[in-house]
Amino acid sequence: MLSMFWRLIYPMRLFVASLATETNTFSPIPTTRRSFEAGAYFPAATHPNRITHSTAPLWVARQRAGRDGYTLIEGSCFWADPAGPCGQADYESVRDEILDQLRAALPVDGVLLGLHGAMVAHGYADCEGDLITRVREIVGPHVKIGVELDPHCHLTEQCVRQADVIVLFKEYPHTDYAERAEELLDILLGSIRGTLRPVMSLYDCRMIERVPTSRSPGRDFVDGMKALEGKNNVLSISLAHGFQLGDVADMGCRVLVVTDGNKSYGEALAEQLGESFRRLRGQFAAPSMTFDSVLDQALNDPEPGPYVIADPTDNAGGGSPSDNTNLLRRMISSNIQGAAFGPIWDPVAVEFCLGAGVGATLPLRFGGKAAATSGVPVDAEVEVIGVVHNGMQSFGDAKVPIGDAVGIRLRGIEVSLLSRRSQAIGLEVFTSVGIDLQSKRIICLKSTNHFYAAYAPIARAVLYTDGGGPSPLDIRRLPYRNVERPLWPLDPLPSGMLII
Ligand SMILES: [Zn+2]
Repeated sequence: MLSMFWRLIYPMRLFVASLATETNTFSPIPTTRRSFEAGAYFPAATHPNRITHSTAPLWVARQRAGRDGYTLIEGSCFWADPAGPCGQADYESVRDEILDQLRAALPVDGVLLGLHGAMVAHGYADCEGDLITRVREIVGPHVKIGVELDPHCHLTEQCVRQADVIVLFKEYPHTDYAERAEELLDILLGSIRGTLRPVMSLYDCRMIERVPTSRSPGRDFVDGMKALEGKNNVLSISLAHGFQLGDVADMGCRVLVVTDGNKSYGEALAEQLGESFRRLRGQFAAPSMTFDSVLDQALNDPEPGPYVIADPTDNAGGGSPSDNTNLLRRMISSNIQGAAFGPIWDPVAVEFCLGAGVGATLPLRFGGKAAATSGVPVDAEVEVIGVVHNGMQSFGDAKVPIGDAVGIRLRGIEVSLLSRRSQAIGLEVFTSVGIDLQSKRIICLKSTNHFYAAYAPIARAVLYTDGGGPSPLDIRRLPYRNVERPLWPLDPLPSGMLII
């Protein structure tokens, strides 16, 4: 009664901000404040009227402010394309910008954060844990903190202990960020109003897996989680896939269950789901084939239509350079015709092609530059077949920038070159630079799974291969130093454990 009276005088106040990037600790490409400014930086109260996956909490909370009766104070939003560790001062600069805005917004009843969950900076192995802890110190123990994360996060004990409720995207490709933000806001508002008492339980599976939900058993596992929500006081269930290119202690798969005040049931359910997930290890990722066998299959199939061949080992979306040339050089030496390849990140080659113009032929050196794992550059006479300035590709309802980009043709292969590192997600990576996909027999692209939603519908078949890039499919080849062991598949499967 008292709180209702209080609300009439003082309407609820929510603060929202976003800080998101995914750190590949093995990547040589630094993340800086400039990376955020070049990525997506919306200073306080300037977020455009469209959704992005890391700012879904802001966008959803903005839509609902009038209906749900609260004042929303919008802080800054930062997104940087996945790359290597962030400079310490740069991380502190973006973090403190948000914290200063929060202090200025006080008093607040709740804080909403759109984070990724796998950010590492020099001096900070768990940036999100650090940020949420500092938010907690500013707002005190009674203000509610809700966080939305990407499933490729390190779901650390510190994050879970300092927040009141955490909800992860369930889908990979990540198509459900808006729905998950709605659920997060529902739980946060219920918690502030006193109608819900979210408590979290966290089970550590002591393993790491790639878990696409576009195929079984990942699809069935996520559907099973959804079927358990809304019953027996279960408010939300999330599966943290973990991010295997982040060499930090907490890397690995974890199950998070949020119940309405029923901690013991949440613990039992988290353990039960974690154990059933562990039994499926080794079955989630699509099988990888040798490049020779995928080419064979594609070239000998009498049915028409493009074969989409995905190389997950040089995925810009996981912080890799996306300029490895191994597979392209093999396609050239095998004289493959009717093929598209890309994207290759090479701002210098893009600049040269833009200068030459569409229709021009020039001797071009491209790719094979950023790291020892990039392979060697390709040297070829190429024809510029299409250009785009400040190009975009679609990712569900969101748009992802690809910078200036060009399409080039060398013999029977058309290649997409980007000035801004990006994986293949939308068809525009090719189509916006003059590369027609339907007429191709082979579309060889760099991406792990985000390509699937757009490319599977146009594909005769989707196959996976190992291009020998910097992120090996067999992660036992990565030089981990900080991951807490034992962890499957680096070690024999240890026992899982309830952490919270
Ligand atoms: Zn992700």
